[in-house]
Amino acid sequence: MTQDSTIKAQMRQLIQILAKHNHAYYVMDQPSIEDSEYDQLFHQLKALEEQYPEYIQADTPTNKVGGKALPKFASVTHAVPMLSLGNVFNQEDLFAFARRVEERLPNQKIQYDVELKFDGLAISLWYEQGILVRGVTRGDGETGEDITHNVRTIRNLPKVLSSVQGSVPALLEVRGEVLMPKAGFEKLNAENAAKGEKTFANPRNAAAGSLRQLDPAIAASRPLAFYAYGIAQCEPHHGQTTMSASLEWLTQFGFAVGECHFICDSIQEVQQRYEEINAKRQNLSVEIDGMVIKVDSLKQQKQLGFLSREPRWATAYKFPAVAALTTVENIDWQVGRTGTLTPVARLNPVAVGGVTVSNVTLHNIGEIHRLDVRIGDTVSVYRSGDVIPKVEKVWPEFRPDDAVEVHLPEQCPMCESPVVMPEGEALARCSGGLYCAAQRIEAIRHFVSRKAMDIEGLGERWVESLLHLDLLKNVADIYCLHEHREQLLTIEKMGEKSVQNLLDAIEHSKKTTLASFIYALGIRGVGETTARMLANTFQTFEALQNADIEALKKTPDVGEITAEWIIDFFQAEHNLEVVKRLLEVGIHWDAPIAPTRQPLNGESWVVTGTLSSMGRDDATQLLQALGARVSGSVSSKTKCVVAGEKAGSKLEKAEKLGVRVMNEAEFLKLMAEYGQM
Ligand SMILES: [Zn+2]
Repeated sequence: MTQDSTIKAQMRQLIQILAKHNHAYYVMDQPSIEDSEYDQLFHQLKALEEQYPEYIQADTPTNKVGGKALPKFASVTHAVPMLSLGNVFNQEDLFAFARRVEERLPNQKIQYDVELKFDGLAISLWYEQGILVRGVTRGDGETGEDITHNVRTIRNLPKVLSSVQGSVPALLEVRGEVLMPKAGFEKLNAENAAKGEKTFANPRNAAAGSLRQLDPAIAASRPLAFYAYGIAQCEPHHGQTTMSASLEWLTQFGFAVGECHFICDSIQEVQQRYEEINAKRQNLSVEIDGMVIKVDSLKQQKQLGFLSREPRWATAYKFPAVAALTTVENIDWQVGRTGTLTPVARLNPVAVGGVTVSNVTLHNIGEIHRLDVRIGDTVSVYRSGDVIPKVEKVWPEFRPDDAVEVHLPEQCPMCESPVVMPEGEALARCSGGLYCAAQRIEAIRHFVSRKAMDIEGLGERWVESLLHLDLLKNVADIYCLHEHREQLLTIEKMGEKSVQNLLDAIEHSKKTTLASFIYALGIRGVGETTARMLANTFQTFEALQNADIEALKKTPDVGEITAEWIIDFFQAEHNLEVVKRLLEVGIHWDAPIAPTRQPLNGESWVVTGTLSSMGRDDATQLLQALGARVSGSVSSKTKCVVAGEKAGSKLEKAEKLGVRVMNEAEFLKLMAEYGQM
């Protein structure tokens, strides 16, 4: 496609989808999308039209207000058209609006009237000789619907005008917004839900639906409110010279004009008020979607006049959209430090809630399937407050023919090891834990830890420097560090002595136990206890490495998923390369105690409270050496609880479950009997 036809096609597509949603929204009162999403589509079209005015389509919705009168209500032509306001979305646009105003009013003092922009339905009210004779919806701005019978049911709206301060005008046309306060909306929805009736998506639609009821009794039951925002006609003239004063003048007749209302001396002050209100809008009793900024002087308003269908003297300053539309350029897989693969959507950068978003996590493959998101898709990106942005919805309407489906990669993008995802797990992982560059830091940290290879001194600062010098690609390189003594000495604050201490600790760690070595490999699901069980069961590393899933599952403490992780680990060739090197550099261990000498094999024990003769860790090790599995919580499967001083809830639970409890003396006696003391 040429660029021209692409732009035209894009415009057609936007017009079609807007028309569809417009119909659902205005005519059916059943919004199919969020207002902010509609706004995004609308502004995308408007932006295209501004850039390429030569392609503007005849049926574009951007130059009309939207909404057609329903056939069942009488149509009324507005004596003064009900126009819409232009929008600004940021400070820059606001200041540009002010500049345009100032240029047309040189050397004049300009004050701005700032009001809440209610998210409701604009209506027009006619009063003749002080009596409400007609209420009309905005409709398309030229023609609206006669909803007088429903308007009369709105409680805070005066049906007859009387004032102690002055006479009542012969003709008064007041404009304002009908809306449903949040509390009333929630109550209405709760009641409807209880009755099994339709609930409303938001207060705006509840208000619109209520106003369009043919039966005024229903409208009367709805908690609607009216807030005046202007006077279209007044005979004789009310005599006020400013917007704010004329609104104030209306209040004497009982009209409500909204909670927050400011007069600002500068556009900077307007910006300040906007930020204040945006920060506290959640606490307001009504939904608002921005602020309305008007030049306060009615004389100046007249001087400024209109540009096409929008007044030059007013604009709507919308709050930042929390949702925006954009396209997915690509979906990458990121490997986390523990090997999890996370899909990340690379987006065409888009502003959402005042922040530019170009990457969004899709969490996992399940989320990709749930959203059915493909590369090339148009998506809504949502963000609220400080919450990280997320893809809320995919627009299949915009899906290009060449959109690409996304599958879980078979190989890790970092190290090409197999990607695995045992059944029942939500996250896919790289199985090359010992080799994968993404998992390197975590693998080393774990490998050197006390209960693993116990290499004292190889702390995070060393590791960082060694990675920087490119001396550690994986854990096997630890045992080659002695070949790089000169380089080690170049590391800041590492003198001869600390380098020697480190190399000694590394050398010393070569003598270990099979259990510690298995644990050190960092196989998923294989903690310290499981590693010990595996060592006891298989006796040699080769036997473990060659075990099938059934054999693994017979090991106490090893379930289906852990067994699968172990198999996956040994199936990743790169892991085997590292293991081979580790064994070649001389890591060795004594044969573990044969299972026949493990009288507590497979039993579950718990150690709690304070022991006077040893720490809980030591007691745990004694029990583990005898084959027991030491757990942190008591259950009915617990064989015995060793309770020291100040044993608390675990002791109580053991007593409740009738689990055997041993005090310290009994425990020491048992250990002595087994030759452990
Ligand atoms: Zn990897």
